[in-house]
Amino acid sequence: MRLRNRTAMVTGAGQGIGQAIALALARHGARVALCDINAQRLDMVLAEIQSIGGCALTCPMDVTSKEQIQQVVQQVLSLWGAIDILVNNAGIYEVLPFEEITEAQWDRMLSVNLKGAFLCCQAVVPHMKQRGSGTIINIASSAGKTGATLAGAHYSVSKAGVICLTKQLARELGPYGITVNAVAPGRIDTPMIHTVPEDQNEMFRQRTPLGRLGTPEDVANAVVFLASDEASFITGEILDVNGGLLID
Ligand code: NAP
Repeated sequence: MRLRNRTAMVTGAGQGIGQAIALALARHGARVALCDINAQRLDMVLAEIQSIGGCALTCPMDVTSKEQIQQVVQQVLSLWGAIDILVNNAGIYEVLPFEEITEAQWDRMLSVNLKGAFLCCQAVVPHMKQRGSGTIINIASSAGKTGATLAGAHYSVSKAGVICLTKQLARELGPYGITVNAVAPGRIDTPMIHTVPEDQNEMFRQRTPLGRLGTPEDVANAVVFLASDEASFITGEILDVNGGLLID
């Protein structure tokens, strides 16, 4: 129970990595606001958390909507009085050769993956500053460090942006007692990667020194650590969770 009495907001909590993060935070005692564009999935995650004796709240929202984010933040603050942990996890993914990415696809990718994190941070930071504490954890990707081997340029660029946003905010918000870190997953077995043919995921498995794809729980464990007091002197860090797929 490393996060007892903490309150967390997790975006993209309806499935995959976000679902595992929400469960792990709840298992460690945090109250979790479950945010996702898909309301039905949130009900299932809520039931799962309640079944282990955890506390959560479903907050359907689109991370590209400033208005919806502000409403959720106000709802959580009036119910629980604080947001200690913000996890920007919601994201979309697309495999496309560079020349085939349309302007609309580029804008959509950057809007969900990068602007979504920006808007959520902007909604929560004034409250964290006021309290003089808080931690923000962004879910980036190894693609944001090296460029992607499979995903389109719009995806890897969005994740590079998430990495730089993390570093910039760590500098700006440190003086207010707020830490900002990112986790950079390698290939993680979630519904997102099943949008590509299986042999392509197998290629990632073969290139990973630890010989397997990651699980959503592998990422969730890193997030719990970064959210805990054990990580209180860590900020601006991009923590790889990739089985050695990228060693830099
Ligand atoms: P996932 O299985 O597709 O789950 C992402 C969740 O976010 C879905 O429930 C999705 O809903 C939701 N979402 C999408 N757009 C949203 C929006 N505008 N507002 C709110 N929620 C939205 O993906 P995942 O694999 O768990 O990935 C989670 C994060 O990890 C992403 O940022 C991803 O880029 C990153 N990541 C994943 C991997 C990997 O190998 N899986 C590797 C590196 C980084 P819909 O399904 O309805 O869109």
